Amino acid sequence: MAMTSPPLAAENHPVSRIAAHPAVVRLLHGPVTAWLILAAGLLITFAAWHTSARATEQAARERLQLRSEEIANAIESRMVLYEQILWGGIGLFNANDTVSRRAFNQYVNTLNLDTHWPGVQGIGFARALSPDLIAAHTLSVRAEGFPDYTISPPGEREFYTAIVYLEPFDWRNQRAFGYDMWSNPVRRDAMSKSMESGKAHTSGIITLVQETDEDVQRGFLTYVPLYRRGAPLETVEQRRAAIQGWVYAPFRMNNLMAGILGSSRDDVRFSIYDDAVIADNLLYDKPTTIAPDLKEVRTLNLQGRQWHVVFGSTANQLLGRAQSVQPNMIAAAGLIVDLLLFSILRALLGMHSKAERIVEHRTAELKETQTKLQQKVVEGEQLVDVLFKANEELSQFAYIASHDMKEPLRMVSNFTSLLEDEYASELDETAALYVRSAREAAQRMQLMVNDMLEYARIDHDSESTQSVDLNEQFQRVCEDLQEALGRSEARVRRLTPLPTVLGNPVRLRSLLQNLLGNALKYHHPGRKPDITVAARKDNENWYIAISDNGIGIDERYYERVFQPFKRLHSSDEYPGTGVGLAICRKIARELGGDIALESTPGSGSRFTVRLPKHSA
Ligand code: ADP
Repeated sequence: MAMTSPPLAAENHPVSRIAAHPAVVRLLHGPVTAWLILAAGLLITFAAWHTSARATEQAARERLQLRSEEIANAIESRMVLYEQILWGGIGLFNANDTVSRRAFNQYVNTLNLDTHWPGVQGIGFARALSPDLIAAHTLSVRAEGFPDYTISPPGEREFYTAIVYLEPFDWRNQRAFGYDMWSNPVRRDAMSKSMESGKAHTSGIITLVQETDEDVQRGFLTYVPLYRRGAPLETVEQRRAAIQGWVYAPFRMNNLMAGILGSSRDDVRFSIYDDAVIADNLLYDKPTTIAPDLKEVRTLNLQGRQWHVVFGSTANQLLGRAQSVQPNMIAAAGLIVDLLLFSILRALLGMHSKAERIVEHRTAELKETQTKLQQKVVEGEQLVDVLFKANEELSQFAYIASHDMKEPLRMVSNFTSLLEDEYASELDETAALYVRSAREAAQRMQLMVNDMLEYARIDHDSESTQSVDLNEQFQRVCEDLQEALGRSEARVRRLTPLPTVLGNPVRLRSLLQNLLGNALKYHHPGRKPDITVAARKDNENWYIAISDNGIGIDERYYERVFQPFKRLHSSDEYPGTGVGLAICRKIARELGGDIALESTPGSGSRFTVRLPKHSA
């Protein structure tokens, strides 16, 4: 249904105009809206999650870099310190012509390795020996109280080295006593590089000779070279020629790392690879349960070797749970809000379309009712027309019929009267009775026809109205009824002056005549008629009341007595045609008024005629 409404002030606002645009309204109320908003919400949630996840990852990465730096620095600086105690050993040798086992032991003891240098297995001295010196060397060490001393592994080689001091000289370190490290390629490589460069040098991965079958750890050694005092050391050749031995330290990797890391936080896992990041070169793998998703690799330069440390961790470990779950919390909260919004919108749209359906349904119903009503109005109007026409025809017929019946009736009445008068002597008793009955019937018929004619004439008389003084008419009626009034010793009183109204004087007189006549006619047999007439008014009408103390009328017949030919008594009891009150009502209604009746059977009646005041 196309509905137009007058434009309101708010509707002229540009924003309102856009919002009220049919396309916008359709979009907002359309079923796709909720999906569109859901899609937009999911997009925003995804963007928020993505941003938060990236920020968290970034923070975690920075944190991992920081922790990697810390750990790498700790390892590097610790290794530099270890190197220093090896150089201290060299200093010991250089300061003395010979360094006895006892002196070396005291040097190492002084360092208090267990307390200050955790992770180092010991500090030792390996002497360089040419084959010709082996026998004397073996004898001199045996002479120190080690009768079983021998250089291992056995066999003839071009060059030998032998671990002569290794403090603390405990059971584990004694396993290495006399070991020729030069015979092992990994150790030889570091020893020779140290010798040739004159600097500290760390070996590749080895399993220490000190290891037993239990808790086997990977290890490495760091060597510093001891040259003959005063020998020139400028060239590699000179340094080779001057080599006396190496002060060195063996390290067991796990112990070393435990010493370096101490009880530092366990938020990062890391693996140390010697030289290259391949499984075979794994030097150390920190025991941990972390399954890392962030990685960081650092390269450490340690005494001529490169260690690659692969660090790994998770945002959860690095930043703590609260911060690391933030993106997921954002995603979850966003999803909840999106879904809530979506379901609310869906529900609203459902309600809206339901309301629309109801409105449509109601509108259709209303339209149907309206159409039916219009039909009924048209039908009613047509019916009124038909009734009006029928009524008109009927009253015309009644008028014509009663008018035309007057003459034949008059003749019947006259001839029966003549018959009675002129042929009375010739009629026997029965015939005389028939003739009298016929005359009386004809006379009654005449009365009825006269009344009918008067009733019908009210429609057909087009006499113009004029001011009628009801006091005057009342007076005349009283004069007309003079005889009857006298006969019944009736009292007729006018309690108030009567008004002057607009109307037909003959009719208004007929109205008063009928009412006063009835009041007289239907008087109570046990008392003298007492009739009063009084007038009162309100803003619009006059009310003229004619009251009597007659036989009264039962309430059931209040309407019936105003209908034509409707009587409550037979003609034997009270003569009459039953048209009088019908005439009264028609006259009153023709003037725009009406007539009403109140009565108490046995006590009296009051007929009140209402006449519009415009006639005054
Ligand atoms: P009718 O010619 O019979 O008087 P009306 O139309 O004047 O005809 O009155 C109709 C009927 O109303 C009467 O038959 C009578 O029974 C009753 N009626 C009229 N006026 C009075 C009255 N004042 N008191 C009691 N009954 C009345």
